[in-house]
Amino acid sequence: MAKKLVVAIDGPAGAGKSTVAQLAAKRLGYTYIDTGAMYRAVAWKTLQQKQPVTDELILSVVPDIVVDLQYADGQTTVLVDGTDVSQAIRTPEVSHIVSQVAKLGPVREKMVELQRQMAARGGVLMDGRDIATHVLPNADVKIFLTASVEERARRRWQEMQAKGYTMTLEELQHDIAARDKADSEREISPLRQAEDAVLLDTTGLSIDEVVDRILAMCGEK
Ligand code: C5P
Repeated sequence: MAKKLVVAIDGPAGAGKSTVAQLAAKRLGYTYIDTGAMYRAVAWKTLQQKQPVTDELILSVVPDIVVDLQYADGQTTVLVDGTDVSQAIRTPEVSHIVSQVAKLGPVREKMVELQRQMAARGGVLMDGRDIATHVLPNADVKIFLTASVEERARRRWQEMQAKGYTMTLEELQHDIAARDKADSEREISPLRQAEDAVLLDTTGLSIDEVVDRILAMCGEK
């Protein structure tokens, strides 16, 4: 049997990481770990406090929060303190504050520890911003997935339309560009391509084409 690999996929918002990573994980028989969902979970719990969002408020929810990712039948369920928040963490309100949440050291320390535990047994495909550079620097395969900001905004817009949100393309483009900036310029583990990661620009590629390229990088046909 082939060795169970650890695969790291990083890239900016809307690059299609979770869509293709989920499909690739399914075809490889691997566990998919969506680290963005974990930062979104902390953002969701912060919003539940119904107070102005400050760093202090965010940090106040960190010590007790229990974030759990369950992956079964190609689907991820995100639990916060036992409550299923898989849908609730995908709202524009959560997206709006998540980069502020993710820049705080104590938040990252707690999530990174959990992520490393989840990857310890191999056979995982983990996506995020700092997986290849920080969380799993010894990953067997490192991929940096990107696409033009226009294409990323268009993809997110289609996703949000399907969910019934009425955001304009311009609003989404603005939100994505702001998150890219915050994620790339933060002090701790900023978004950047690892030196030994393979760049995969998905602009103009279909989902299947991207998945096939990822599988090829993992030594599968
Ligand atoms: O992947 P997604 O867009 O859901 O991630 C939401 C946010 O979580 C990102 O914009 C980023 O601020 C943060 N994040 C991070 N490190 C990761 C994954 C996500 O800082 N490994």
